[in-house]
Amino acid sequence: MDLLPLFMAVKSRRVLVVGGGKAAARKAELASRAGAAVTILAPDISDDMAKLVAERGLTYATHEVAREDLDGCALAFGASEDEDLNERVHALAEACGVPVNIVDRPELCQFIMPAILDRDGVVVAVSSGGDAPLLTRMMKARFETLVPAAYGRLARFAGNWRERVGAAITDGDLRRRFWEDMFEGTVAELVFAGRDSEAEHAMQAQLEAVSRGADGPPRGEVWLVGAGPGDPDLLTFRALRLMQQAEVVLYDRLIGDGILNLVRRDAERIYVGKSPQNHTMRQEDISALLVRLAKEGKRVLRLKGGDPFIFGRGGEEIEALAAEGIPFQVVPGVTAASGCAAYAGIPLTHRDHAHACVFVTGHGSDEQAPDWKALIQPGQTIVVYMGLSALPELSAGYIAAGGDPDMPAAIVEKGTRPDQRVITGTISDLPARKETARLGQPSLIIIGSVVTLQGELAWFDGADAKEPVGIA
Ligand code: SAH
Repeated sequence: MDLLPLFMAVKSRRVLVVGGGKAAARKAELASRAGAAVTILAPDISDDMAKLVAERGLTYATHEVAREDLDGCALAFGASEDEDLNERVHALAEACGVPVNIVDRPELCQFIMPAILDRDGVVVAVSSGGDAPLLTRMMKARFETLVPAAYGRLARFAGNWRERVGAAITDGDLRRRFWEDMFEGTVAELVFAGRDSEAEHAMQAQLEAVSRGADGPPRGEVWLVGAGPGDPDLLTFRALRLMQQAEVVLYDRLIGDGILNLVRRDAERIYVGKSPQNHTMRQEDISALLVRLAKEGKRVLRLKGGDPFIFGRGGEEIEALAAEGIPFQVVPGVTAASGCAAYAGIPLTHRDHAHACVFVTGHGSDEQAPDWKALIQPGQTIVVYMGLSALPELSAGYIAAGGDPDMPAAIVEKGTRPDQRVITGTISDLPARKETARLGQPSLIIIGSVVTLQGELAWFDGADAKEPVGIA
């Protein structure tokens, strides 16, 4: 390392910024956010800087920089466009023993400013020692995806408990383990979910259990997580985090390997998939299994395709948990309609085509056909889930209910996956096109004039993208 990384306390201390442009404003804002009393010295200042001075109550002066300006400063920045002035700032600061940073002049810097990721007080600072500032900014972007937005709140929560934990658990090793469990467990998840008073109770209970010397029965919980339509890149940050903490995962047929591979390696995997013909495990049995595993103290991940609350029977599963008093949380996912529509290039609404969109199931649990009379409305796109095997009946029902036989319609097979296929046609010829193309599961049907936009808007290079079966 060429530089010693430090975080410096500048609260209420003077920081001098010489210069009135963009670079100067950036330094001034950072120093001010850390609580410094910032003085800007420049003959004139940019609009951005003027706004900053007003908003953050900075001191602004126009005189020539002199020794007195630097005396007693914690830090000084030379960020002027006038290089002679910057050099003077550097010389004066050195003479006064004030650490100085001259923008874009590494040889005149006693410290450099890292790329910063600030999560509400939890800060990641990245530096390449001045060699590759762009690289550090790219690394910072990576950290953005790794550090949950709520880490700052978690840190403050932990800060409030620090003394109490220190007093209750005097053994250093035990204390470290306690904090590790806390940051990776129920309490942290409750804080992330904004359930602060429950987090307080859980923390209290865990602290009492540990200080009594009892491990206590571990508290199980269930995370009902939507995994999206297939492309692992469409997972949410929260889904990914919970996937990496789970001890057991129950997953469906819709969960592909790309996603399953992201679940913690040593988590137990239980397949509870259902196919339309073949019910591997009954819904009641899945719910009962979730309850049993949670009662054993396990952190259970119930991973569902798409969104758990859209034709996912997620509601039924958590009803069972709620009835048993088992803690749970629900993480939304990209539902098949959004995922398939986006990757197929079919906007579900569009000012010239549709101002409404309905999601229906092609074969409901009661095996009832969709209520076409109610669904067929001008300017409304209809998305049919689980409709592929009943497509001939759906098509006939649509037309029998007075729907336009020439209404554009599409099938998206394996949407968002590398082997996605999109077939377009009309509601009357879609069944025949489906047979010709031998489409399989999972497939989603989209009915509405928005489908005509597909030819122009398709962007995703799926399996058949080069030979689309277009509208006749
Ligand atoms: N909860 C899920 C839907 C489960 S129902 C969600 O929100 O997406 C299962 C149906 O979803 C399938 O029959 C199919 O119609 C649709 N589906 C799910 N994933 C799909 C995909 N990748 N491509 C096409 N259709 C999909």
